[in-house]
Amino acid sequence: MAECRARKRAVVLVPMPLQGHMTPMLQLGSILYSKGFSIVVAHSEFRPPNPLNHPEFIFHPLLDDSSGYKTSLVNLMDLISAINSNCRAPLQEYLGQLKKDQTLEGCEVACVIYDSVLFFVDSVATQLNIPGIVLRTSMASYMLLYRCIFQLQAQNLIPFPESRLQEPIPELYPLRFKDLPFSITAEISEELMDFFDSMVNIRSSVAVIFNTTDCLEHSSLSLLQKQYQVPFFPIGPFHKMAPAASTSFLEEDQTCIAWLEKQAPNSVLYVSLGSIAIINEQELTETAWGLANSGIPFLWVVRCDSVNEAQSVDHFLDGHFKESVGERGLIVKWAPQKKVLAHRAVGGFWSHCGCNSTIESICEGVPMICRPLFGDQRLNARYLTCVWKVGLEMENVWDRGSIEKATRRLMIDTEGKEMRQDMLLMKDKIEASLQKGGSSYESLIDLTQFINSFST
Ligand code: UDP
Repeated sequence: MAECRARKRAVVLVPMPLQGHMTPMLQLGSILYSKGFSIVVAHSEFRPPNPLNHPEFIFHPLLDDSSGYKTSLVNLMDLISAINSNCRAPLQEYLGQLKKDQTLEGCEVACVIYDSVLFFVDSVATQLNIPGIVLRTSMASYMLLYRCIFQLQAQNLIPFPESRLQEPIPELYPLRFKDLPFSITAEISEELMDFFDSMVNIRSSVAVIFNTTDCLEHSSLSLLQKQYQVPFFPIGPFHKMAPAASTSFLEEDQTCIAWLEKQAPNSVLYVSLGSIAIINEQELTETAWGLANSGIPFLWVVRCDSVNEAQSVDHFLDGHFKESVGERGLIVKWAPQKKVLAHRAVGGFWSHCGCNSTIESICEGVPMICRPLFGDQRLNARYLTCVWKVGLEMENVWDRGSIEKATRRLMIDTEGKEMRQDMLLMKDKIEASLQKGGSSYESLIDLTQFINSFST
């Protein structure tokens, strides 16, 4: 509170409690803190962030009733909807008090920045006359895909014929109809259309912040900016601007770094499907044997809840598989991913292509095997393989032969070496965007001035 009092102007952050959403929000908090703002994090009680990792922030739990939810694909939409309805009243009360009584946290509220799926924040902020800013935690191009669904609906093209899903979407090459975030081959419910609306409609928000950068998405950003009246601030990659504080919900197994130390440069394939994706036992077995048969050293993240059959995955650490792999492979439940990708031993990343994983890999110059599963992952995979050409696509297959082949193509073949070179060029471009005069650097200055222009 003393710190907050000294700083006065506060930005209130309202994050979505999923790893891929919480991480960029907290990183944004660190960036804005470095620009002189106090940071207040008003968060759902469901999976709260760890305040010990950010002693400089003020954390305020919003007493909601979402604690019974587990985050899996099955109930993701239910979780989003529960938080939107349960957190409204507690946020309204807290923001109202903050506005009225500056001694409460010792600072004045300049604005609220909220995750794009938490659309309830917009109406709360509007009622209290506090400027609201949306944070998009996926690529900017993802917004264009949602807009496309509305266009198809308006043209009565949904249900869309299965036979045309492979076709490119006009103006959005190389994205295809099959890369849209949800299936369009059947009628879409009103409830789902309402959710899509929240993904494209920024309501009365006064700006949009993106964890992307101009050199990655110049044309999509320009296309989008023409369709919205408010300023866009693409100030990513956040994790390269923010100090490296842990944002993980799960404990990071640091022993893998000692293991990486023993491996040759660029020799290890890092394998992770992020924080939510679930595979079945057969896919797990095929992955294990594909990696084992490739002969390539690997570091594989298998979360406790990675497999949809409830049984333990620990048996992979023993028996025949363990004997075949020996010291060449390491399995952990959760890795310090950014450190892993930055390690000289890591030469490739087999990923589900979540937005954070994609950006983190590009920032370290690590080429990828792309195995998207849902949501924005197909779009990211498409950009990696067809636009930036730094990833191999492994679409619709999950057998040990394909996995072994893709692993060797990326890690040994000339094709993989060329991708590594191209990835290093992208890394350089991103680094340049973060330097004085670079697009993200300048956009952050603009954002800081923009927030400072709000009267409190
Ligand atoms: N991550 C991590 N350790 C792991 C696996 C993932 O720290 O073992 C982090 C990763 O660095 C990234 C986030 O979890 O920041 C996953 O976000 P992403 O957008 O890639 O995927 P999601 O989990 O949202 O599907």
